Amino acid sequence: MSQTIHIKKSHRLFERAKLFIPGGVNSPARSCQAVGAMPVFIKSADGPYIHDVDGESYIDYVGSWGPMILGHRHPQVMEALEHALAFGTSFGAPCAAEVEMAELVCKSMQSIEMVRMVSSGTEATMSAIRLARAYAKKSTIVKFDGCYHGHADSLLVKAGSGLATLGIASSAGVPEELAQLTISLPFNNLEAVKKIFKENKDIAAVILEPIVGNSGLILPQPGFLEGLRELCTANGALLIFDEVMTGFRVALGGAQQLYKIKPDLTCLGKIIGGGLPVGAFGGRKEIMEMVAPLGDVYQAGTLSGNPLAMAAGVAQLKVLQSPLPYKRLEASTVRLAEGLKSLSEKAKSKNADMQVAHVTGMITVFFTKEEVTDFEKAKTCNLEVFSKVWHVLMQNGIYWPPSQFEAAFLSVVHSKEDIDNTIKAFETAISQL
Ligand code: PMP
Repeated sequence: MSQTIHIKKSHRLFERAKLFIPGGVNSPARSCQAVGAMPVFIKSADGPYIHDVDGESYIDYVGSWGPMILGHRHPQVMEALEHALAFGTSFGAPCAAEVEMAELVCKSMQSIEMVRMVSSGTEATMSAIRLARAYAKKSTIVKFDGCYHGHADSLLVKAGSGLATLGIASSAGVPEELAQLTISLPFNNLEAVKKIFKENKDIAAVILEPIVGNSGLILPQPGFLEGLRELCTANGALLIFDEVMTGFRVALGGAQQLYKIKPDLTCLGKIIGGGLPVGAFGGRKEIMEMVAPLGDVYQAGTLSGNPLAMAAGVAQLKVLQSPLPYKRLEASTVRLAEGLKSLSEKAKSKNADMQVAHVTGMITVFFTKEEVTDFEKAKTCNLEVFSKVWHVLMQNGIYWPPSQFEAAFLSVVHSKEDIDNTIKAFETAISQL
């Protein structure tokens, strides 16, 4: 563990945490286990920076795993939160901000005519597949290897993110009978999807991250999303885009705007909560009208549409209505991607081939020989090299996701200088390999 010199308070907190919290963390992705490190404990954050309890500051590329697209403590988000706080924290009854949120989501995402708020991405995907099963009157769900859709039982089969990081295919505790209703196929492989539709007449839905963030960043190949759209329509299955990461990030209208595909249902989370616990699922009106109390698909939540979460989310979405943040985000992402690509030769000379994948606001450096187009290819990465690079980045003030199988997130407020310092830190890390 090369970080130990300056992280005394974090170390003490981690030791205490481990006594009462499994693994000392409330979500495995932040444990840093895969890179053989212990997590630093964060005290505060502002703009593109986070500061740990030992007084170290870092340029943040985790961004709370996606929500902090405007950077930490954006003035408009903070002001909206402070204003809402003065009126109360939860009512368990409708509030005006929920309506504003629903209108903003429907206006921004082309395929969403109605939306239901929940409190996490997991709830969003779990509810969307229940709704899809009810609508299609079928039971089987098709997903893709390395896509992560939260931790609901049916979706923990060959999942990415924390499971990929820990090197486990599926979770214990998921009944075999349920797991059998989930079929996982290689991403970007339309032939495999065609074949399964021929063999299995019980497919209710195909769910995917249209741009995968949870195996590291993997882009859909031309024709893949279009093909899925056609196959779902032809076979009476719903197409569910899990845009928990990509929604309001890769473009205001998410990956479905970039690739011009209309899914039947869309799952959202992260950005729409402005840093508070939020998720949502929405889609065609005819499908959404099946949700209780209108229809017989039961779905509920004590804190759904919580006034504080709605206030923060609405404030963030309002800022994002302007094209400017996306222009800036794209410019920063391209600057970082180009800078990192320019280090490829140096990395190669150190026996560390690297591939840089990026889309507006998200980036991954894969340490492998070939372009990564599916989870199998992501698994060919040299995890030891990743781990070595990660440690040097931390020592140089760069807070990068502690796993090869997680995308890094940029914010609108990462400056040119931040980006250039990040490239320099990568250069240092690669020279030290
Ligand atoms: N779907 C995707 C694509 C995600 O990336 C995540 C979380 N990283 C989830 C669903 C689950 O969201 P949550 O952690 O809020 O439950």
